[in-house]
Amino acid sequence: KGAIDDCSCSVETIDSFNNLKIYPRLNSLLQQVFFRYWKVNLNKKCPFWEDDGRCAIRYCSVQPCTDVPEGLKGRAVDPDINKSQKEVKSLGSGGCDDENDLGFLNTTLSKESLDDFEKWAAHDSFCYIDDDDSEGSEYVDLLLNPERYTGYTGPSAHRIWRSIYQENCFKPSRNLGPYADFSNIGADEFLQDMCLEKRAFYRAVSGLHSSINIHLSARYLLSDQNGFDVSAEGIWGHNVGEFQRRFDPELTGGEGPKRLKNLYFLYLLELRALAKAAPYLESQEFYTGNEEDDRDVKRAVTDLLSIVKSFPDHFNEHSMFTGGHQAAKLKEEFREHFRNISRIMDCVGCDKCRLWGKLQITGLGTALKILFSGNFDHPIDQQLNLSAVKQTNFQLSREEVVALFNAFGRLSRSILELENFRQKSQR
Ligand code: FAD
Repeated sequence: KGAIDDCSCSVETIDSFNNLKIYPRLNSLLQQVFFRYWKVNLNKKCPFWEDDGRCAIRYCSVQPCTDVPEGLKGRAVDPDINKSQKEVKSLGSGGCDDENDLGFLNTTLSKESLDDFEKWAAHDSFCYIDDDDSEGSEYVDLLLNPERYTGYTGPSAHRIWRSIYQENCFKPSRNLGPYADFSNIGADEFLQDMCLEKRAFYRAVSGLHSSINIHLSARYLLSDQNGFDVSAEGIWGHNVGEFQRRFDPELTGGEGPKRLKNLYFLYLLELRALAKAAPYLESQEFYTGNEEDDRDVKRAVTDLLSIVKSFPDHFNEHSMFTGGHQAAKLKEEFREHFRNISRIMDCVGCDKCRLWGKLQITGLGTALKILFSGNFDHPIDQQLNLSAVKQTNFQLSREEVVALFNAFGRLSRSILELENFRQKSQR
């Protein structure tokens, strides 16, 4: 309940906005072909430690995707062409080379714009994004592989969270004692000692952690009655005890509610990114090769974004990274920390968790790119804004757009699940 720190709005406002207006629209959009397939490399080696053994837990496996619609692949690259001469063509879009298409989901790129894009992405991106042509990259059907309880826990999971909080979140400038327990980093006295940007970084990561843990509590393996039959499904549902263990104020020494508020903080941050990039996103083709579907998706995106824009208390990113040289340095540090977190996702020892971890970090990285690249800081007028963005060669790849909407979808669902847990706890 109550106000969300570092934002000018309350939990109650977001609950009703999300549960009544955003969630139903977003949920139906994410069932569409364009948004349900995501290309990802789950086979990358962990760059930070050697013993990154993958767990063999049955519910950690990701089902392969065998029937990806051809149109989604979007472009064909001739592997024989040297990279500097690489020509990228749009598949099935009628060979359109209209300049208005440049930059649209990165499907039709000339050599110059591809080079520009690579330079730009290296400079502005907040994530190490998988090269979608790399060996091991595959399309995954997100609906077939829902985020839920997997049984991934213990030292491997803790090492990931610890390395995110201890080594890749910012620390207060004063020495406030040893970081023996990484959960200390969210303690009030630590956060108060940090500047807004560093607090925002912590809150975003903690909000993502909360969201993951809400999902695993809401789609918990309640019964594995099927014993040794590996093809059989278990029974999944809400585990109120698991949720309370993680978020009840009394069981968490008061930390649970703060962690839930961080989820709301992250929701506001991604909501703002969608609103800010709305003219750009609305101008996308959402190409799948099925004209009718593509038109429906475009309409549904425009409808969703009009609701997103109508939210009265958007997160104010303009209060961050202001003040010349120091601010630019801080922004660079912020970006480096976040990039490291995106690489840590390749160390997650459970494929299903790795999939959703990578997707949500890519989505958040895309939101940060929208908020802080400067490309959308133009006059309110939508047309002016869009043409200014086009001049900068700003581009989002298909994988970034899919990740952005799905990541926001996860947060939206988490907020809805809080209402479900509230009702179930009262019974
Ligand atoms: P953890 O959640 O592991 O937390 C460790 C410590 O961090 C806690 O003791 C607490 O001190 C602190 N902490 C907890 N929550 C927060 C917060 N919100 N903010 C700040 N500090 C916090 N498991 C699944 O079943 N399904 C999944 O899809 C899944 N995806 C995952 C994705 C990633 C990237 C990672 C790293 C883990 C994932 N897990 C998943 C594992 C899950 O997040 C937990 O690590 C696991 O359930 C063990 O929980 P725990 O109670 O030991 O505490």
